Amino acid sequence: MIQISNLHKWFDQLEVLKGIDLLIPRGETAVIIGPSGSGKTTLLRCLNLLEIPTQGTIELGNKSIHFDKSTKLTSTEIVSFRKSTGMVFQGYNLFPHLTALENIIEGQIIVLKKTKAEAEKKARALLEKVGLGDRADMYPHQLSGGQQQRVGIARAMAMEPEVLLFDEPTSALDPELVGEVLKVIKDLAKENMTQVIVTHEMNFAREVADQVIFMDQGVVVEKGTPSEIFQNTKNQRTLQFLNKVA
Ligand code: ADP
Repeated sequence: MIQISNLHKWFDQLEVLKGIDLLIPRGETAVIIGPSGSGKTTLLRCLNLLEIPTQGTIELGNKSIHFDKSTKLTSTEIVSFRKSTGMVFQGYNLFPHLTALENIIEGQIIVLKKTKAEAEKKARALLEKVGLGDRADMYPHQLSGGQQQRVGIARAMAMEPEVLLFDEPTSALDPELVGEVLKVIKDLAKENMTQVIVTHEMNFAREVADQVIFMDQGVVVEKGTPSEIFQNTKNQRTLQFLNKVA
């Protein structure tokens, strides 16, 4: 479903991703953990081309792009790739002048060319799904952080992506609001949505992940099932990190 081969990303002289290889099967949830600065967000941003990799290959569904110095992507290629991915950001990024419902309708009309009626029907169903059926007409500033983030997830889902990407989706939230957002992501995992999640929530990673990926200093140090990584790892770097965050 998602195959990443020998992916490198340089920012000027700084090599941030140093040859990443990953396979994330369709329907599975992969959670990326690791210290700050290890390249987790950059990897996620490369997956939807918010950053253009310097070298390597990304395959997503039936699309494949090889990157090297001579790669010049057309905007059509970028749009087509981005349509396959839905990104949920740390800071929600909702349009402040649009209601929850309108936030979810907008992209469906502009990008997917749906009619207003179709888009609204889908938006209402998604608001129900994330537990906000009664908040459709509220503006972002009238919603809590957890509610805004759930609208953010519904908005990403509305674009019918092949994979959902989450960049620390709960790190801007007050602790008591984290659970409601994680529940939505867990429900999506149960429904076999393909998801890639960068998070600092280790308990959540343990519960939701089919695959845990531990990154440090631009490389994947170790990947495996939650029990392989959290209970049975022998890797010193993984152990050191887990001891620090425990
Ligand atoms: P993580 O998500 O694991 O905290 P990041 O992917 O955000 O790590 O960052 C990895 C490294 O790349 C850091 O050293 C960071 O400063 C650097 N970096 C990230 N984005 C940029 C950028 N746009 N320009 C230059 N350096 C960047």
